[in-house]
Amino acid sequence: MYQKICTLNCPVCEEEIEDELHIFFRCAVARDSWSAAGLSSVLHNATYQQINAMDRIFAVCDNESSDTVGRLTMLLWCIWQNRNDKLWNDNVQMPRQIGRHAFDAWNDWYSVHKLQCNNVSGTTETDLVRWEKPALDWVKCNVDVAFVSGSGRTSMGLCFRDNSGHFMAGMTQWQ
Ligand SMILES: [Zn+2]
Repeated sequence: MYQKICTLNCPVCEEEIEDELHIFFRCAVARDSWSAAGLSSVLHNATYQQINAMDRIFAVCDNESSDTVGRLTMLLWCIWQNRNDKLWNDNVQMPRQIGRHAFDAWNDWYSVHKLQCNNVSGTTETDLVRWEKPALDWVKCNVDVAFVSGSGRTSMGLCFRDNSGHFMAGMTQWQ
């Protein structure tokens, strides 16, 4: 039976005891990953040399732009993922790959997020077209139709409202 020896050492470099500060900031692989992600200046900034990882991360969040904080978050996640991949699957990534992956993942996230923001503003514009009550003594009928491709069917729905905007009658139908 195979038995893995349980050690406190960093599973990535196997040179030092693993703690949060080591795995994310001090490990040689982590440091090279920071530089591959274009974040060396943050890593070496004198403002962020707190003695525990949480304080360092919070200090960065307080001082840096959301773009830098976003990239840093992605990098920490990639470093952690690499550490687990080494420990459980014995897969080793080069620091260059880890940093590059963080950089690309952040760019992907950023562009998708930006697209979503644009969609939201588009929705706001269409919201300006609003339903209006019919004039006194008039009834308004709203209709919508759906086409389901390949089904050979269409469906429709309609509803009638009075001049107070109250629902009077409606129907739906397949054709
Ligand atoms: Zn290490």
